Amino acid sequence: MSDAICSAKGCRADAVWVLAWNNPKIHTPDRRKTWLACEEHREHLSQFLGVRGFLKDVVLLREWEPTEGA
Ligand SMILES: [Zn+2]
Repeated sequence: MSDAICSAKGCRADAVWVLAWNNPKIHTPDRRKTWLACEEHREHLSQFLGVRGFLKDVVLLREWEPTEGA
């Protein structure tokens, strides 16, 4: 997971959090897009998704279990 870098613009920090989100206008309801966030940008990115109603879940990267292939 050494390539897990924060999704915030210009940030090169290691990601700690996974933000799972869904845009109901373009995604089916069970679809999950993910952004990665460092400790510093978790709140900023969560708010960005939250105000749009897109944010579904915030999970520690080490506890994140992608459901694809299940
Ligand atoms: Zn960051």
